[in-house]
Amino acid sequence: MKKVLVTGGAGFIGSHLCKRLLTEGNTVICADNLFTGKKENILELMDNKNFEFLRHDITLPLYVEVDRIYNLACPASPVHYQYNPIKTMKTSVLGAINMLGLAKRTKARILQASTSEVYGDPHVHPQVEEYWGNVNPIGQRSCYDEGKRAVETLFMDYHRQNSVDVRIIRIFNTYGSNMCENDGRVVSNFIVQALLGKDITVYGDGSQTRSFCYVDDLVEGMVRMMENDAFIGPVNLGNPSEFTIRELAEKVIALTGASSKVIYKDLPQDDPKQRKPDITKAQTILGWEPRVGLNDGLKKTIEYFKSLTR
Ligand code: NAD
Ligand code: UDP
Repeated sequence: MKKVLVTGGAGFIGSHLCKRLLTEGNTVICADNLFTGKKENILELMDNKNFEFLRHDITLPLYVEVDRIYNLACPASPVHYQYNPIKTMKTSVLGAINMLGLAKRTKARILQASTSEVYGDPHVHPQVEEYWGNVNPIGQRSCYDEGKRAVETLFMDYHRQNSVDVRIIRIFNTYGSNMCENDGRVVSNFIVQALLGKDITVYGDGSQTRSFCYVDDLVEGMVRMMENDAFIGPVNLGNPSEFTIRELAEKVIALTGASSKVIYKDLPQDDPKQRKPDITKAQTILGWEPRVGLNDGLKKTIEYFKSLTR
């Protein structure tokens, strides 16, 4: 059993990961500044004697003794990462330097939650890990995309220069319970709009595609990547089933039984036109692939958002 630090552990993915790690008998320290995370996400863990919550901003150094570090702290939705883009870049870069320094001192293994955004608006489809991406360095999404790219560089340099035991995963659009209802991401937006009987806001003509992974599948892949001894990544983790945003809107309307109508709004700057992971590496090296299809995952997520309004 290990002592594990999860930065961003009160957020959407982090809270599921903390729960999973505790279930396996590990001791978990969750460090989060609660910018986009919330205590409600980890409320059920607070009584567990193996769980500790630290209100901490990872742009500042942290001194704890751990065997594993999952570095998830970073706002992940466009609305939140563009709210204070300089802070977003600081969280990625200074946060990574602090956490890599911690890993170096404690000899902990450290995993970075990188993103499919490192591929930008991709010219290679589906995206393979070898693709270097098509990223605008000076646009509205750049604070997030280039921050995450810089962190991948830092991880590889700490590995080559200081032999830090790193792992890099590139997460594709993930959804499930504990998503913030107002963070502007497409799955939470559509479900909340449908449940409230409001119009469903499709940006652009809705022909852009995304591939949606249910959070339990993602967490399984994260743990497998962390605990494999040979492969440092980067590895794509996501569900290769690809849908247009219009199809997603239709599914959400059908599954909620909402009377909402679809309305079309302007497409945000640099919005990727297509995104789908090639998961051959995850399949062959980690023996991982997603199990939950979009309909089943959406049903569970709809139940979660319904429970918030009960
Ligand atoms: P989230 O916003 O729910 O979680 C991020 C957490 O980090 C929040 O709890 C937030 O309070 C915390 N945080 C932000 N800045 C911090 C700071 N300076 N110090 C300490 N804590 C800080 O988002 P999420 O979807 O759970 O994403 C988790 C990680 O996974 C992020 O790094 C994100 O970039 C990555 N990721 C997520 C997706 C996805 O589809 N959800 C896709 C690709 C990558
Ligand atoms: N999107 C949309 N309506 C919304 C929110 C998002 O049509 O209310 C679109 C957005 O323009 C993008 C896709 O859905 O094409 C996924 O957006 P999200 O912010 O969830 O993730 P990302 O763009 O980072 O993949």
